[in-house]
Amino acid sequence: MEKTDDFVKQITKKSEDFSRWYTDVIKRAKLADYAPIKGVMVIRPYGYEIWELIRDQLDRMFKDTGHQNAYFPLLIPESLLKKEAEHVEGFAPEVAWVTMGGSEPLEERLAIRPTSEAIICSMYAKWIKSWRDLPLKINQWTNIVRWEKVTRPFLRTTEFLWQEGHTAHASCKEAEEETLSILEIYKTFIEKYLAIPVITGLKSDSEKFAGALKTYCVETLMPDGKSLQAGTSHHLGQNFSKAFGIRFENKNQELEYAWQTSWGVTTRLIGALVMVHGDDSGLILPPEISPVQTVIVPISRGDWKETILPQAENIYHELKQNNIRVILDDRDTYTPGWKFSEWEVKGVPVRLELGPKDLEKKQVVLVNRINRDKKFVPVENLVETLKKLLADIQSELLSRARAFNASQTHIARTESEIIDIIETRRGLVKTAWCGSPQCEIPIKEKASATIRAILDQPDSQFEKCAICGKAPRHTVIFAKSY
Ligand SMILES: [Zn+2]
Repeated sequence: MEKTDDFVKQITKKSEDFSRWYTDVIKRAKLADYAPIKGVMVIRPYGYEIWELIRDQLDRMFKDTGHQNAYFPLLIPESLLKKEAEHVEGFAPEVAWVTMGGSEPLEERLAIRPTSEAIICSMYAKWIKSWRDLPLKINQWTNIVRWEKVTRPFLRTTEFLWQEGHTAHASCKEAEEETLSILEIYKTFIEKYLAIPVITGLKSDSEKFAGALKTYCVETLMPDGKSLQAGTSHHLGQNFSKAFGIRFENKNQELEYAWQTSWGVTTRLIGALVMVHGDDSGLILPPEISPVQTVIVPISRGDWKETILPQAENIYHELKQNNIRVILDDRDTYTPGWKFSEWEVKGVPVRLELGPKDLEKKQVVLVNRINRDKKFVPVENLVETLKKLLADIQSELLSRARAFNASQTHIARTESEIIDIIETRRGLVKTAWCGSPQCEIPIKEKASATIRAILDQPDSQFEKCAICGKAPRHTVIFAKSY
């Protein structure tokens, strides 16, 4: 038996046990591994390369819209965290505390940041004095600790990586515009680069960020019918500026509290990528975010090192010069078959094979990771052919996910219809809601589902709130969530 079979066999079938399939893929593709601390993972180099691509692209988008990066401390004094009452109440159950400095007990406990509003606001209070200091638009790329009871790699871990943007503005309108423009960046990024379709909308009060005026969110549907919150953008209003004393002199020389926003996405996006696109053989990465877009596997037979390898090297250099992320797998310690499986597990979108016959015919073989479709293409114009194939794979992944979302979005008009759909089919349930928190409770209690998003555009087909029958104020999406 070839090693190939063992390699793939270790991945549970996606349709058989989705949850085990997910952790199998993460381990086999070497994205992450469990750390010797409960609920904490190590992001391995391949997983971290994906994060770097996510980070670099988003970072460009933030900078293009006038944001700058900075770094704020990991430790937050308890007194600062307590300044905004709702905020501390919301985060208290998951804060990790530092109580000792060496062998000395600390006078004041220090929180390991569960999010950085408190420490950043304390600095903004010093930096913002006049309308001329506004807007202030800062982002940081950093780690976060939240003491989670139930954890899963990338989706929910005690420590994770994220970016958090924190901005201050002179008016409510400006802060609202910032909140929405970030939401648009997240939507564009997730659809264009990760090839994952999103739903955007507002959170209901019961789901919004602790201390925010409004929370906008980006929700994505996973293959098991659960919704994953992929990013949030909060309009903080003046809640934090009042608690931390962030005041500025306006153009009429009057003192005003600043209007603020905060927003973030995390390494959770990698979990979404795995779940949405992967199959029984492992990951499938959208080319835009794949650390390796093409792997060249020379067929290692006979005198391949003298004949095939030099041509493989030429192709490698040509692709690299044309900004294709490419690897030449010239290891002679593994068979081509073994390599095919390994790069499939890792989700590389295109495999380029080169054998003795191809060399004669001045061609290469391109294999599409989605469907294993093989194409024999001439070496001439290879760059164009390959770029076209990568673009096709990118759009195929998005349209495939869009079709799945459409097939899993259901309409419900009564409470029992909502519960029935959630319990039998899952997916996204579109319905009408009167706006009362009372009407969210029965769905949460009976079906463990919540309002994932209040849609911007109300749907006129609904005549009443599905729960109480009163006039509907919003069209909403109910779903189970991660
Ligand atoms: Zn109602």
